[in-house]
Amino acid sequence: MEIFLYVVIFIIGIFFGSFFTLAVYRIPRKEDIFIKHSYCPNCNHKLGFFDLFPVFSYILLRGKCRYCNNKIRPRYLILELLSGFTFLAIAISLKLDIQNINSIINIMFTLLYISILFIIAGIDYENKKIQKNVIYFGFMLELIYIIYQCTLGNINVYQYVIYLIYFIAILIMSTLSLKLKAEEKYYIQVLYLALYIIIFFGSISFILSVLLTLIIIFIYQLLSNKKDTKLPIGFYLCVSNIIVIIVSNILINFLI
Ligand SMILES: [Zn+2]
Repeated sequence: MEIFLYVVIFIIGIFFGSFFTLAVYRIPRKEDIFIKHSYCPNCNHKLGFFDLFPVFSYILLRGKCRYCNNKIRPRYLILELLSGFTFLAIAISLKLDIQNINSIINIMFTLLYISILFIIAGIDYENKKIQKNVIYFGFMLELIYIIYQCTLGNINVYQYVIYLIYFIAILIMSTLSLKLKAEEKYYIQVLYLALYIIIFFGSISFILSVLLTLIIIFIYQLLSNKKDTKLPIGFYLCVSNIIVIIVSNILINFLI
């Protein structure tokens, strides 16, 4: 029974992964992500029902578009699988308990939280841009989660007052930043992302993520020849945070 459940979560993760690649492609282009039909980016042909199954359709069509034979980048396949494995790792590390409704709701919110990180990371990696409306959507989800936690009675309200002040401070900064250069605006977006992470997982998890980000950037700079002046900090931060969440949950659950 449990194994069946984990397989289902893995498959859900793959489908979400397919949605992430779509969102990462369309959101910066201001295209609709829910209603508009999927299409091949090369020949613009509408995709049929059976082309929409992630991973499986990729393997069946041997990585080519059914209509124009154009090669589909294997990146899509890798991202979908990665998303599946991440969902699985989260469910395992949080010890999914089907009989416990709180456990299910917690994992659901965590997966939604991670989904936002995936989309932010993808857009930042491709466009060196942190999409503000995606983060705002994430804040909305967090607000629902906080209200849910309030009804359970396990919440420290003062903590959230501080977060609110922090949020207003960034908001003011970004309103005053109209004259700033694009690069400086980018750092303000990073502050939003930081707040998004802190609200959900607390400052310790955030600090660990920042440390991991610095390590990854340091190693990347050592290994790569071309010195990138503009790094997708948001991308590294999201990836680090996902790793920190999974590893720390495993440590908490299985070692203590
Ligand atoms: Zn095509």
